[in-house]
Amino acid sequence: MPRSRDITRQRDLHEARPLWAGSPRLALRTRQRPSRANYDVVIVGAGISGALMAYALADGRRAILVVDRRPPVQGSTLASTAMIQHEIDLPLSRLSDMIGAPKARRAWQRSARSVESLSEIVADLGLSCGFARKQTLFLAGKAYGRRALQEEAEARRAAGIAADYLDAATLAERFSIARTGAILSNVSAAANPAQLAAGILRAAMTRGVELVSPLEITDLRSTADAAFLATAEGWIVSARHAVFCSGYEFLKAVADENHAIVSTWALATPPGTTLPDWLKTCIVWEGANPYLYLRRTRDGRLIVGGEDEGSAEAYASTKKLRRKAKTIHRKAESLLGLALPEPDHVWAAPFGTTRTGLPLIGRVPGLKNVFAVMGFGGNGITFSQIAAEIVSSAIAGHADADADLFAFPGRRT
Ligand SMILES: Cc1cc2nc3c(=O)[nH]c(=O)nc-3n(C[C@H](O)[C@H](O)[C@H](O)COP(=O)(O)OP(=O)(O)OC[C@H]3O[C@@H](n4cnc5c(N)ncnc54)[C@H](O)[C@@H]3O)c2cc1C
Repeated sequence: MPRSRDITRQRDLHEARPLWAGSPRLALRTRQRPSRANYDVVIVGAGISGALMAYALADGRRAILVVDRRPPVQGSTLASTAMIQHEIDLPLSRLSDMIGAPKARRAWQRSARSVESLSEIVADLGLSCGFARKQTLFLAGKAYGRRALQEEAEARRAAGIAADYLDAATLAERFSIARTGAILSNVSAAANPAQLAAGILRAAMTRGVELVSPLEITDLRSTADAAFLATAEGWIVSARHAVFCSGYEFLKAVADENHAIVSTWALATPPGTTLPDWLKTCIVWEGANPYLYLRRTRDGRLIVGGEDEGSAEAYASTKKLRRKAKTIHRKAESLLGLALPEPDHVWAAPFGTTRTGLPLIGRVPGLKNVFAVMGFGGNGITFSQIAAEIVSSAIAGHADADADLFAFPGRRT
């Protein structure tokens, strides 16, 4: 079996201390080792993807194990700015050009439905995670100007996804923002991502899911009817199905030329920052490259992120962190037309992107009984819910009508 860390290359998943690191209710009762050698499903990764996957699969009958080499919810989920959007990074009109209108529409519609499903899960479980439904304001920028946004609003409406185009005058009047146009839409939310993931893991555990951490999976074999996972300690755990929800430490077997890890930066101002009232109900992102996005937290912080760079390592530079934080701060002040206090949290992280903005979800080609989810970009949390739905259906033996949109190349299921 290969050396440790070979199957999902370990990397730092955030630099500096993300805002959510000190949140209450993140602690979970973990086990130090698996209670058995054989499970129905082993899920690798205890972030938001692993949490939603475990919750979707936990039916009280299946034996399910979730493992993580870190404590739960300490990976990318802790660094997330958690704007829970149906908007895929690539606008519907552009995605239609790339993969055809029918498929692009299905992807956007599925994304919108998944935000609703996620909202229902949070409501059903009564999770205390700062979850709130929001509108989204998508601003015209250098990459998508006024005309592109008008076309995009039309494409969304044709797909049955509500979207209002606002012209420059309306945008200035309602939001005091000087841009050539914007799209206002309804299907979004925001949350504390770490509390969201911890709450969902906790709910899965009350349905019998076992959580073992720290435990690192170092190798994987599959046969006709089982998957075998080796741990760093040399233990072997077998399962009818293995699901890799390992985030940006993705399974090497599914590395894809259309998928890249880049660097991103974010900051948060202190609680009680003076902000426009409309930010209580609206999150913002812009059609620019690099882009800026922002949201308000319940306690009145402004979270702002962006300034992405193509390098997978740039986020690790402390010099860059300072520089990027200054740029993001200045751009947010200029966009909102107000002076903001200095941030009390700035952080950087690796971030996954794909050419189409769509994630990769499904069976791993060439490895029977093994699933993986990866390629989560700016709406990774929404994609985690889509992944939970598609993979749990496949494990239950049901086809998902949208599985083809996200399947790994080499296996369009
Ligand atoms: C700065 C930033 C801002 C973001 N903003 C947003 C946003 O506004 N909205 C949005 O929807 N998404 C956003 N995202 C994306 C979103 O946060 C991610 O898609 C999501 O958190 C990924 O969750 P995950 O569970 O897949 O990965 P993680 O949270 O990283 O969990 C994966 C876990 O797998 C474990 N693991 C990996 N390999 C192994 C192994 N071999 N053995 C055992 N354990 C292993 C890791 O330790 C890790 O804990 C943002 C991301 C970043 C970094």
